Amino acid sequence: MPLVTASELYEDAERLGYGLGAYDTGGGQIDLIEAIFQAAEEMSSPVIISDGYEAIDKYFGLDYYTTIVRMRAAKSGVPVALHLDHAFEFEYIIRALRSGFTSVMFDGSRLAYEKNLEITRKVVEVARAVDVTVEAELGNVGGLEGDTHSFTDESLYTDPDVAQDFVDQTGIDSLAPAIGNAHGFYTQEPKLDFGRLKRIKEKVQIPLVLHGATGIPLDDLKKAINLGIRKINLATVVHHTYVEGVKEYLKRHPGDDRNLFRRAREPLKKLITEQIKAFGSARRQLKKP
Ligand SMILES: [Zn+2]
Repeated sequence: MPLVTASELYEDAERLGYGLGAYDTGGGQIDLIEAIFQAAEEMSSPVIISDGYEAIDKYFGLDYYTTIVRMRAAKSGVPVALHLDHAFEFEYIIRALRSGFTSVMFDGSRLAYEKNLEITRKVVEVARAVDVTVEAELGNVGGLEGDTHSFTDESLYTDPDVAQDFVDQTGIDSLAPAIGNAHGFYTQEPKLDFGRLKRIKEKVQIPLVLHGATGIPLDDLKKAINLGIRKINLATVVHHTYVEGVKEYLKRHPGDDRNLFRRAREPLKKLITEQIKAFGSARRQLKKP
């Protein structure tokens, strides 16, 4: 089916209280894309494909990337949204809208509050005109996108009152708070601030997004979903699992290049299948009303 917006997926997820996996494909690696689609199809689950501008640009370029995802979605029976993650420039948002993304994240979390407000408002205005979902980040999720190791800094956690003000003033569709989550592999056991998450959800009442979900135990992710997280971003573990799949397959079947890429997808498919089960998105939204 054609790509859907993240808002369409959020609506059902919010009503029924489940989470959606948002999977990073390393800038459009086709075997990763295929593993995500196959897992979603086997589970009859909606799913979000999500990549950062810089990674897409480094590998295939926006138009090639969106064409591949759109074509794969067209022959799929599950609803799929295509999300641009962590755009730090307004221009990236405009290019993404032209290229066919159905959800965009403007990340102004490193800007001064007023500047973040100003640009996010502008993003909402243009995205709204073409019915594309907008996500923004407030506070500062630890680690930079693409970092292999992460840190968290409590002074950068999202303040619930500021979150409410930000959502009221910008009209964003979804918010990524900083609650002890961080990008990359955690160097120490991640501890999510569930109390803060609960207070944020009470204040803003829009779908919340958890960045840096690699390494957070499934039970904690389930708890976060119960408290209002609707999108769970997974990148580091996705890349890692696929690469390990390649290594493992070659170890067991030396020289079998012919089947390598197809077979190396299996561990990643299995991981995503387990996550979909845990997030509660299996067997959802098979038919449009
Ligand atoms: Zn992120």
